[in-house]
Amino acid sequence: MITSQFHYRNGVLHVEEIPVKDLIAEYGSPLYVYSATQLIQNYRAVRAAFAPLDPLICYSVKSCGNIGVLKVLANEGAGMDIVSGGELQRALVAGVPPERIVFAGVGKSREEMQQALAAGIFMFNVESTQELDRLQAIAAIAGKKARVALRVNIDVADPDTHAKTATGGRHTKFGIPLQQAQELYLSTDRSALEINGLHIHLGSPIPSPHTYTTAFDKVIEVIKQLRKVGHDITMVNIGGGYPVSYRDPNDIEVPSIGEIGARICEKLHALHGQGVKFMIEPGRVISATAGMLLSSVEYVKQGWDRKIAILDTGMNSLIRPTLYGAHHPIWPVSYEDYSGSWGIYSTAVAGTQEMDVVGPICETGDFFALRRRLPPLSEGDVMAIFCAGAYGMSQASQYNSRPRPAEILVEGTRSSVIRRRESYKDLLEHEIDSL
Ligand code: PLP
Repeated sequence: MITSQFHYRNGVLHVEEIPVKDLIAEYGSPLYVYSATQLIQNYRAVRAAFAPLDPLICYSVKSCGNIGVLKVLANEGAGMDIVSGGELQRALVAGVPPERIVFAGVGKSREEMQQALAAGIFMFNVESTQELDRLQAIAAIAGKKARVALRVNIDVADPDTHAKTATGGRHTKFGIPLQQAQELYLSTDRSALEINGLHIHLGSPIPSPHTYTTAFDKVIEVIKQLRKVGHDITMVNIGGGYPVSYRDPNDIEVPSIGEIGARICEKLHALHGQGVKFMIEPGRVISATAGMLLSSVEYVKQGWDRKIAILDTGMNSLIRPTLYGAHHPIWPVSYEDYSGSWGIYSTAVAGTQEMDVVGPICETGDFFALRRRLPPLSEGDVMAIFCAGAYGMSQASQYNSRPRPAEILVEGTRSSVIRRRESYKDLLEHEIDSL
């Protein structure tokens, strides 16, 4: 049974020990709110799930990269999975030791490679021959040796996730086709590189343990073949993509990280016994349930056949519903005398009606939920959009010239601003010179 840090007490939604309405009163709306305790709980659940492999856990910064969030995880001992020079800066500013940072992504620029080498990161996950050549040249000039894992595209037949987030198939831009990768491992002309790692990341999220274990069978086979010809793989980065339930914290339909970890550890146990060092790159399984977006009702209007609740932010703050067809639980922050987790919306509640919950952006795709059953709403009601910690604020934009929300971190009875609300000045300041 998972204890969520987002729970109703006598009809009042709390984050840890703070009533959410107090946060709105103090910091305004819309607002991203994260629970430090939930982040830590989720991180520790990952650590426990993968303990038999003793991996370096590199939290995926892209899922929620606020420095305040990174600091909480760095204090727990997390490393970071980065995909840009900007994310490198975030990780370093948060105090993450460089030797716990791994750098993925298909398009690393020269500058980004130089910065990462100068910082002394642990490993580059390299995605093409061209990138390998560039890294060799840059490392040679810098007089450094770069540790490399080749990101191998093993062509996962059934990625078991949304087409836009499946990264392990042959038709995606990710990784090096298996055959090519095997040849690259055996090429010996890159003296500034130490190419003894293998990286895969299948997609995000991947709910079926079977997808991972089938993929890892291929990885084990590749390592065996390489060893036969004298090339040892000593580091294996198995990526991220571990799922969460966007319906209920105790949803049994989505395997827990404990279940997935157990299946993966069982599969990779033998490699661990042979001295292989593991890395994992979990993002959403740590950050998704640790964050929510609060947004206030501006209007409730009557459409042709249903009510439409218009909130004070939309796809500019949380694009997942329209980008991936993602489901996010939504419920008012004050609701009768309900006590319990945010899973309330999934129970049949009397007096609800179907309505659309949309934002103010001028796009038909600007919605949080369509035909969702909700209690009657009126202007000023604050809505909680749950499970928005991952790929929420990190994908937010200023579209329609709307300043991004503030971000707040809560721990127990304390709250602090970890990103101030953007102002109109923030919107305009990069363009001032052209006036
Ligand atoms: N590692 C890599 C290389 C990724 O591309 C991603 C997500 O896109 C992740 C890890 C994290 O995925 P998730 O947040 O689903 O764990």
